[in-house]
Amino acid sequence: MVFMVDKHVNFFALQKACEKPGCPLCTIINERIDRYIDGMLFEHISDRTFRAQYRAAGGFCNRHAEALLSYRDGLAVAILGRDTLQDYLADFKKKKIRKRKEICPACAEQLRIEKEFLTFIAEAEDSKKAKTEAADSEDIPLPEFFVKSQGLCIQHYAKLITYAKKVPKWLKEFQENRFKALEERTSRFIEFSAWGRQQDFESLSPADKIVWKELAAALRGNVSH
Ligand SMILES: [Zn+2]
Ligand SMILES: [Zn+2]
Repeated sequence: MVFMVDKHVNFFALQKACEKPGCPLCTIINERIDRYIDGMLFEHISDRTFRAQYRAAGGFCNRHAEALLSYRDGLAVAILGRDTLQDYLADFKKKKIRKRKEICPACAEQLRIEKEFLTFIAEAEDSKKAKTEAADSEDIPLPEFFVKSQGLCIQHYAKLITYAKKVPKWLKEFQENRFKALEERTSRFIEFSAWGRQQDFESLSPADKIVWKELAAALRGNVSH
């Protein structure tokens, strides 16, 4: 039952993220990781498991530690940070730095979210079939709203292929056609950037003149921290 509720929550989170610019999964991660760090610091500072996990990891990674700098609860940051600092001081004394086996807790949470959503997306049937199944509900089939979004960034699509047993046809076509089109526009941009091709370059659309920005964004995704 809990699983069904989760599925519903994920469905609507995805639908909302698809209405925003950029990779929908990056959007979800940004929201959820913010909430995760907030929750961890605010409510779970007294949670032994979290503190132990955090300590074993030696704190958050660089990317996630940045969120601490602007965090509103200084005491939580101090308590967690002191654990890490004390471990380092002990290591310095022994002149031996411990090997950390745990990964950053926020990175672990991000991996969990990615796996959950990517398998969820990969399980969505193609539109026609989904429509008959969803006929009695008011839900828009996932593929229908998903293809109106900007699609997954390269990193997330690559992860989807890694996690999913099978990539549905609608998704494969949608994603790979987008990347193929981006590759063609980039090639044209490179070709027209050559010496003597200025006139051709001028004929490019405004978006095509800065396609390298789109490419860099697709490669990187838009996870903010
Ligand atoms: Zn992404
Ligand atoms: Zn991290």
